Amino acid sequence: MRRTRNAKIVATLGPASSSAEIIERLFLAGVDVFRLNFSHGVADDHRARVEAIRAIEQRHGRPIAVLADLQGPKLRVGTFAGGPVQLEAGQPFRLQLDACAGDARAVTLPHPEIFAALKPGAELLLDDGKLRLEVVRRDARSADTRVVVGGKLSDRKGVNVPGVVLPISALTEKDRRDLATALELGADWIALSFVQRPEDVTEARALIGRRAGIVTKLEKPAAIDRLDEVIAASDAVMVARGDLGVELPAERVPSLQKRIVRACRKRGRPVIVATQMLESMIESPVPTRAEASDVATAVYDGADAVMLSAESAAGKYPLAAVEIMNRIIGQVEADPLYRQFLEASHTANVPGDTDIADAVCCAMRRAVALLQARAIVCCTHSGHTSLRAARERAEAPILSVTPLLSTARRLALAWGVHSVHAEDVASVEQIAELAGQLVRREGFAQAGDAYVAIAGMPFGTPGTTNLMRVGVA
Ligand code: PGA
Ligand code: MN
Repeated sequence: MRRTRNAKIVATLGPASSSAEIIERLFLAGVDVFRLNFSHGVADDHRARVEAIRAIEQRHGRPIAVLADLQGPKLRVGTFAGGPVQLEAGQPFRLQLDACAGDARAVTLPHPEIFAALKPGAELLLDDGKLRLEVVRRDARSADTRVVVGGKLSDRKGVNVPGVVLPISALTEKDRRDLATALELGADWIALSFVQRPEDVTEARALIGRRAGIVTKLEKPAAIDRLDEVIAASDAVMVARGDLGVELPAERVPSLQKRIVRACRKRGRPVIVATQMLESMIESPVPTRAEASDVATAVYDGADAVMLSAESAAGKYPLAAVEIMNRIIGQVEADPLYRQFLEASHTANVPGDTDIADAVCCAMRRAVALLQARAIVCCTHSGHTSLRAARERAEAPILSVTPLLSTARRLALAWGVHSVHAEDVASVEQIAELAGQLVRREGFAQAGDAYVAIAGMPFGTPGTTNLMRVGVA
């Protein structure tokens, strides 16, 4: 089974997409990566979904990636004894560490680390930014605020503190437990929420090691301030436009999205554009024209993947959402302008972050264009070579071959990569033989078509990519 697009589809699983049947239909409709949202559900829900995914993978002989998304330090107010309250602009409102009943004058904010960081003048956003408070005075256990934008506030609504770097880790106690579950379930990617600094990624790396790739969700202005370092520390990145658009004005999100996609492509880190892509399809069987255009824009920009959240997890039309996303990507990639945009937005490697694999991949890109090659065959262990090849956004699909199933799965996220789990190669002759066979078997080329293979000698040694071989299928 082979897909013929470069950009990948990530779909979140949830109540609307939990049965093995629907997961299989979503996969057949185009999903490459399934996202488990650890903000919802219990370990057994996620376990059942992973089991279903692995069974589907077996049945269709295609590696599928599982992305476990950790909730992160999402701040929430406590509860209101008498039900939702109405806050009016100008009125005082108190947030306090100590438990209280919760009313229109005060509510609990059960996060001790926050109060010290809340300087007077700091802004707090409640319920996805619908309400705004300004800190007037505070001490170690409470903050007195003035309501700037009022509205209804109910139990456990989210709190964002955009302008402040909070003295908290990106991993809460719950995240650490969820991380253990996710790794035990064999998740291929772990997504970190509310990352503020590159050290947050390093801290997670110390726990995860190389057992899974790390996807850093960019949803805090503080992380944007250190964008390049954060990207460099991560294995992949998500433009988490939901919270990003709460922490920053919505009008700043489009240009940030482009900047992040560009910076990730430059570094060769897979980048996912996420949230509200087909939002109206939660309720409607067709997207708005603006949504279709939003998905297309991400694809024209050369993003590795586009993502569905509530559309596939809790919406009425999860399958239609995947089908439409698949068709939009197909249309964009068939447009001659798409190639022009990709070429125009291609950037040179980052000096100091370049290795021999990059030199080989650079030559590969030229060879593919000159020979109109139909496939790039890439032999990889860690996946590094295939990711460096994907970085080139070359004109032919990447047939990535690895003896490691975990690598094959992880690469399902990467732009243009058709991942195959197969025996390791042992000689240059074998590469030529295997490449020729594979490009025909997987439907990339017909007899007589050129392909370009890249690999490393000595064979079987990770991190040695140093060889390009051009062949004819
Ligand atoms: P979430 O992250 O769906 O976990 O909140 C994505 C976003 O904020 O856009
Ligand atoms: Mn978020």
